[in-house]
Amino acid sequence: MSLLAVNNLKVQFSTHDGVVTAVDDLTFSLSEGETLGIVGESGSGKSQMAFSLMGLLAKNGQVSGSAEFEGQNILNLPPSTLNKIRAEKIAMIFQDPMTCLNPYMKIGKQLMEVLILHKNMSKQEAKAESIRLLDAVKIPEAKKRFDMYPHEFSGGMRQRVMIAMALLCRPKLLIADEPTTALDVTVQAQIITLLQELKKEFNTAIIMITHDLGVVAGLCDKVMVMYAGRTMEYGSVQDVFYKPTHPYTKGLLDSIPDLESDQAELRTIPGNPPNLLSLPKGCPFQERCQHAVDLCRTEKPALTSFNNYQQRACHLKEEAVA
Ligand code: SF4
Repeated sequence: MSLLAVNNLKVQFSTHDGVVTAVDDLTFSLSEGETLGIVGESGSGKSQMAFSLMGLLAKNGQVSGSAEFEGQNILNLPPSTLNKIRAEKIAMIFQDPMTCLNPYMKIGKQLMEVLILHKNMSKQEAKAESIRLLDAVKIPEAKKRFDMYPHEFSGGMRQRVMIAMALLCRPKLLIADEPTTALDVTVQAQIITLLQELKKEFNTAIIMITHDLGVVAGLCDKVMVMYAGRTMEYGSVQDVFYKPTHPYTKGLLDSIPDLESDQAELRTIPGNPPNLLSLPKGCPFQERCQHAVDLCRTEKPALTSFNNYQQRACHLKEEAVA
């Protein structure tokens, strides 16, 4: 059985200008210890998908479909039940660690509080475990830093502390929303290596939300490419990266700078993502797609499965995307 099985997930927001569908009919699954990368440009629905699983949607948001975690649908659960699952089984880390850390409280105290509250540990046990976790996320001189405030840590260190905090209760699922975006490249690489090691040590399943395909290649088993709230392509990283079957995936991959090429200009996908309030009829990617034909402007391509669990939504034949 999958640890997480998401089916036909839809997230909509009521706004003054109309209803915005931020996530449209997502279906995917994740097993224990597996890592799924979710990629796409800003506004593709990646973060709203995560917020819906965590019960963190804005007040005007509505969710439908199902998301079964260990066999229980976690969408629309009563707050007390959801809080317990969030505290003990599913954790989330964000781009900005300061959204989770209290600037007025020492790091050690913040970590200990979680363990005392959710694991019924004594103060001594909680302190020892907190220092162990700080060590595990490679905070140098963890014992000394236990008594420091968040502002005394660098951005990369704060991100490590947030990962330690997320792992305190040994969650089965960690949702990471752009955790390396604000960090420089060297620290980014260190955090990815750290997540790889933690994944092995704790067998935690990870959903990694990112716009960085390099992060997905380095960490993930599977990848979902999203555009305008929908799945464009889904499959193993190996298949999707080496044999992309969707023009949008191909465009994202072609936009990665090739350091060995003499080509002076960076390639980009022309145009911008569509306005979610007035999506075109047919394929949402049609305006930017060099392969678009008349059918793409009239009929929305259905998400179809092939090669076991791989999926794509495009009228074009797989082999035509070269
Ligand atoms: Fe391009 Fe048409 Fe495929 Fe959409 S359905 S990605 S417009 S070829």
